Amino acid sequence: MSDSGTADHDLHDSPFSDFLGFELLLEEQDRELLSRVRAFMTREVEPVINEHWTRGEFPHQLIPAMAELGIAGLAYDGPGCPARGALVDGLVAMELSRIDPSIGTFMGVHGGLAMGSIQLCGSEEQRQRWLPAMARMELIGAFGLTEPDVGSAISMGLATSARRDGDGWVLNGEKKWIGNASFADLVIIWARDEDDGEVKGFVVEKGTEGMGFDVQQDKIALRVVQNAEIHLRDVHVPEANRLQGAASFADTSQVLRVTRMGVAWQAVGCARGAYEHAVRYTKAREQFGRPIASFQLVQDLLVKMLSNVTAGTAMNVRASQLQDAGMLRDEHASLCKVHSTVRMRETVGWAREVLGGNGILLEHHVGRFVADAEAIYSYEGTREINTLIVGRAITGESAFV
Ligand SMILES: Cc1cc2nc3c(=O)[nH]c(=O)nc-3n(C[C@H](O)[C@H](O)[C@H](O)COP(=O)(O)OP(=O)(O)OC[C@H]3O[C@@H](n4cnc5c(N)ncnc54)[C@H](O)[C@@H]3O)c2cc1C
Repeated sequence: MSDSGTADHDLHDSPFSDFLGFELLLEEQDRELLSRVRAFMTREVEPVINEHWTRGEFPHQLIPAMAELGIAGLAYDGPGCPARGALVDGLVAMELSRIDPSIGTFMGVHGGLAMGSIQLCGSEEQRQRWLPAMARMELIGAFGLTEPDVGSAISMGLATSARRDGDGWVLNGEKKWIGNASFADLVIIWARDEDDGEVKGFVVEKGTEGMGFDVQQDKIALRVVQNAEIHLRDVHVPEANRLQGAASFADTSQVLRVTRMGVAWQAVGCARGAYEHAVRYTKAREQFGRPIASFQLVQDLLVKMLSNVTAGTAMNVRASQLQDAGMLRDEHASLCKVHSTVRMRETVGWAREVLGGNGILLEHHVGRFVADAEAIYSYEGTREINTLIVGRAITGESAFV
């Protein structure tokens, strides 16, 4: 029996926030994987994460155990990759963020964005060279697209330059917000070719001369994730490290389409984590001589939270099924990102509300979800930008500028 008192599915560890049993859509071996991820997050991450969050430090000691799970690049079918499909990949992304959105983000950057850039934009030789070690998490990746002066308008305004120089390239420019960059073995840098004006992708290896980092300090969200500004000063990269299938920003967008689904799943995970903590708290906390869960106004908030996470899961399940069928379009992923993140923000706010003052204490976890939701809300395309992508698709009119 689940601790919400609702009927169980035949999954002994399915969280009660999976009210309609979406996990039962998975094959048995994928459900087992999800259970292993859940056990790792509950036993290894949850007990230590608030301390790391407070100090703004990444738990590097957990990487070997994360690697053992075999979830890096879960959906990709490149060399050494698990090739398990988009639905289980999404549910795993949700599961990580259900316990901690920072760990979900770390994996989204490494296993989604960085591995996805090589899988979708690299040559076969490049996939063979990097993906197996990335899947084993022996090499960690980062994805450098955003710049200090340009975020939403990056396709038009990207200013980092790439100049052809003999059998290589010279990169110059600045990046901002790049997750994992300061300790990554491989940083994908997106830069504009000075010759043809197109955006191209380069794999810059750790220690390459001219690439420097400043880790961003004092964030109020996702404090465990190490975001960095990257300074590129005459960085020489061999032609063999230019992603051979990235000829323009349209190729970068292919990567963003699939990883945006991952962020929609993270948002549902963040909301589900907060909802679960809220339900448990309302049963334990008594006021006026009764558990606060017995008050109608509290139940109203709990049911609204459950509606949000259930609707978000349903929408994301369908989009991931489309992704598995090769039918996912940009506007599908954008709709999921908008819906999941808007409802996440609402849900974590209600969770905080039912905890009263304790909602702002880290020890009850909900405060961390409230803060982390703010970053998920904005990255990989803000609500406005994703709304404009859907708006253009349904009207045929572009309203970006
Ligand atoms: C924690 C975190 C981690 C990140 N990790 C990475 C990473 O690993 N790699 C990476 O490359 N980037 C990363 N990013 C960057 C992220 O993708 C950008 O923050 C995001 O794309 C928004 O860009 P911006 O912050 O520059 O906001 P801006 O583009 O400056 O937008 C500011 C506001 O203006 C609105 N706006 C802009 N244009 C329009 C328009 N046409 N119509 C209406 N409204 C508009 C936006 O919606 C937003 O509300 C990360 C960001 C955060 C916060």
